[in-house]
Amino acid sequence: MIYFRQLFDITSSTYTYLLGDLTQHEAVLIDPVREHLALYLSLLDEQKLKLHCVLETHIHADHITCASQLREQAGAQVMASVYSGIRCADVQLREGDAVRFGGESIAVIATPGHTTGCVSYLWRDRLFSGDALLIGTCGRTDFQGGDAGTLYDSITHKIWTLPGETLIYPGHDYQHKHVSSVEQERESNPRLTGKSRDEFVAIMSSLNLPVPRLMDLAVPANRHCGQEESHAL
Ligand code: FE
Repeated sequence: MIYFRQLFDITSSTYTYLLGDLTQHEAVLIDPVREHLALYLSLLDEQKLKLHCVLETHIHADHITCASQLREQAGAQVMASVYSGIRCADVQLREGDAVRFGGESIAVIATPGHTTGCVSYLWRDRLFSGDALLIGTCGRTDFQGGDAGTLYDSITHKIWTLPGETLIYPGHDYQHKHVSSVEQERESNPRLTGKSRDEFVAIMSSLNLPVPRLMDLAVPANRHCGQEESHAL
């Protein structure tokens, strides 16, 4: 039997996902937010789940992870892309790696473009797309090594080619949308559907988005799994 929860941080509109195998009592957290550490620990306790690992989709610019606290307090391994720059991760993931917990397996799919080290995680019929593909939109590409052409290739070559019924669980949503599907996004994502690579690059270069409020704090902290730099190893 599996356990699945989508958790939301109101301040940064971040989604965190808790995946569990209730038979073998092991769990995975994707993109945990520091302010909710106590909630994660209580959910794990309540469901009698041991946290096998924390999976980061990328270095976040808008919130701080609690990966290091979960490593210390729950014995979890921290895993992130080898290209993410998260040097404190216990496991540096590559395209095609399988992350196993209990009797479950999660496939690692490299989806760079929002940042250089962005990955998506495929578990059963669900894709956790981080900030590569969002519902009806996509992640910005104007900092942290972002590149619009690379993001277009990641989405159109890696995500659009998954089965249409694959559910999309994004890293953020700002309009109370919780879940989509590959088919739905492929057919009706205003940023991408019917757009050539060049058109997409032009759209992305004209967004003029403000810099995230917490960026100067969050990026260095997240490079160290959420520890403040002065406390980092
Ligand atoms: Fe991001």
